[in-house]
Amino acid sequence: MSTVYLNGNYIPMNEARISPMDRGFLFGDGIYEVVPSYDGQLVGLAPHLKRMQDGLDAIGIELRVDYDHWREIALQLIARNGSGNLGLYFHVSRGADTKRNHAYPDDLAPTIFAFAYEIPSAPVADKNATTPFSVITAKDLRWQRCNIKSTSLLGNVMHYQQSHTGGHNETILYNDRDEITEASSCNVYVIKNGIVATPLLDEQKLPGITRDTLLEILRRDGSIAIEERVVTLAELNDADEVWLSSSSRDIVPVIAIDEKPVADGNIGDVWLVAQTLYATHKFDF
Ligand code: PLP
Repeated sequence: MSTVYLNGNYIPMNEARISPMDRGFLFGDGIYEVVPSYDGQLVGLAPHLKRMQDGLDAIGIELRVDYDHWREIALQLIARNGSGNLGLYFHVSRGADTKRNHAYPDDLAPTIFAFAYEIPSAPVADKNATTPFSVITAKDLRWQRCNIKSTSLLGNVMHYQQSHTGGHNETILYNDRDEITEASSCNVYVIKNGIVATPLLDEQKLPGITRDTLLEILRRDGSIAIEERVVTLAELNDADEVWLSSSSRDIVPVIAIDEKPVADGNIGDVWLVAQTLYATHKFDF
């Protein structure tokens, strides 16, 4: 994983340099995406690039995201770093200024960086071959515009670390009204009596590409009922199954929350159906 893309050039990772005056470094002023690729096959490139364009527009970085251009970067990184299971990380920051000022000038050239890193293989839809998660919950202390996939991730980092320190895999977050928002790097699903409920999208959650894709696949299949609505902490703690989703993990079953088992503490049957469907159809988007 040694060749990266920086501002138009493919170079060894240890030669990549950006200015300390880059607003990405000083302010976390940028947008990122992670696109999964399995043996050279990309998952959801178009929706990832659309979210990147939405984020750039929302924070006022004037860059038109060109599908073919980013696809070429993705394919080059795969060709130069070896295929397998890769996360392709795309990062656009507002660029390097000559001074540190919260207000930004109009004429900065964005810094564009991309690299590939290994991700775990996607879970096979087999209960015996899947490593489930145990997680904790925490009051969501991140900023109020979590729908933007901003590189200002300190709140997410702190929440993730909270679970990691206690030997867990993720932190599921809730707001002032004890409503589930998302996890520090995943979207959340609560399953009760065969119905999959996931929090309705708003500014407190990232519109996950995996979430969107999964819901579309489940709707097309029709065998599992879905509800997008407010999901409470009480419902999370009374669930038959809980899942998380993200691009580099697919759909992950959670078997413990705050040291207590989810239902009987085993991976659930609805997850098996959902992950089977997701694994079959995820390359269609
Ligand atoms: N929520 C947060 C806060 C995330 O950081 C991520 C992924 O990084 C997700 C949800 C899942 O989004 P996606 O499915 O697009 O990877």
